[in-house]
Amino acid sequence: MSVQSILQQTEFSKSDIVELLSSEGEEKQQLFDAASRIKLDNVGNSVYLRGLIEWSNICRKDCYYCGIRRSNHRVHRYSLSEDETMDAIRFAYEKGFGSIAIQSGELQSRSFIEKIDRILTKTSEMTQGRLGITLSCGEQTEEVYRHWFDLGATRYLLRIETSSEQLYRKLHPDDEDHRHATRLKALESLKKIGYQLGTGVMIGLPFQSVEDLADDLLFMKRTDIDMCGMGPYVEHHETPLYAYRNLLLPLSDRLSLSLKMIAVLRVLMPDINIAATTALQSIEKNARMKAIAIGANVLMPNITPKRFRDDYFLYENKPLSSQNDEEELRFLEEQLQMIGHEIGFFRQGNSLHYQPQR
Ligand code: SAH
Repeated sequence: MSVQSILQQTEFSKSDIVELLSSEGEEKQQLFDAASRIKLDNVGNSVYLRGLIEWSNICRKDCYYCGIRRSNHRVHRYSLSEDETMDAIRFAYEKGFGSIAIQSGELQSRSFIEKIDRILTKTSEMTQGRLGITLSCGEQTEEVYRHWFDLGATRYLLRIETSSEQLYRKLHPDDEDHRHATRLKALESLKKIGYQLGTGVMIGLPFQSVEDLADDLLFMKRTDIDMCGMGPYVEHHETPLYAYRNLLLPLSDRLSLSLKMIAVLRVLMPDINIAATTALQSIEKNARMKAIAIGANVLMPNITPKRFRDDYFLYENKPLSSQNDEEELRFLEEQLQMIGHEIGFFRQGNSLHYQPQR
């Protein structure tokens, strides 16, 4: 079937999705045009900001792709203090970001959990609940997720990384700390508790096929997610997966595939929130705008205090701390204006897909 006729359907099979993800040239443009239209019709031309706080790079996990994995001893490890965190949150609040995202290496210790508790409590006090709070702090017990929800976190982002258990095993050590099933269960708990649920995958991983990516999109649809953050896999030389870099698509193809993933997801799930992620930007400066133009509606400007930013080095070419945050904000605003979009200042930008009563 042609891309144009696939796009006229309302249900999409795996082979339809593979076809869309494989489109090039004129057909790729048809996909982008359709996704762009669907986005404007359903979520409009506002882009919501999530101030991204990279809270700590101390991690108990040893994922083969990630620069801050436990076994990378070249990393200078840090955690933000409470004051540093609250300063960043205040900045986001005052600038009208509408929401923040606290992302961290994965820890399950009591002291870690209690630090997040205090930040949530203080943030709710400071903002009277007006600032949306997303957590991205990895796998935790259901009780911890519930506790954080009760303290005011309303969204949780936990990437499944890949929906294929077989591929997941190739990307992680084979031990109790790295089980695909545990991650799936965590997503279920988050949903049950009532979070706006976010997940995502890496695109262009070694050993990953277009069929795997089609399955990833079907997984997101089936899981009925409210938000998605996904982006290209970018190698990091201090990680085991670097040995397989000869299997990778060129960066420009990984970028193109990532944009197609975003566009197809927008076609499949018209009213969810989709982020234009930092990893896109690491390949091409303007790539986040391309993502916005073809389906994404969320940006996550980094508001981590400058002196820690370079230590949260997940992959090569991750944008570092060159610009100041106010300049970056103005730059984004101008760039968005050029593609007919505006920032939803002072708005939380909740996922329209979210059904609180489930
Ligand atoms: N520990 C938290 C999140 C921290 S890392 C959690 O598990 O949810 C945030 C995301 O960065 C990961 O979910 C992963 O998808 C992405 N990431 C890690 N290494 C990467 C790489 N080499 N290239 C692209 N993305 C990467």
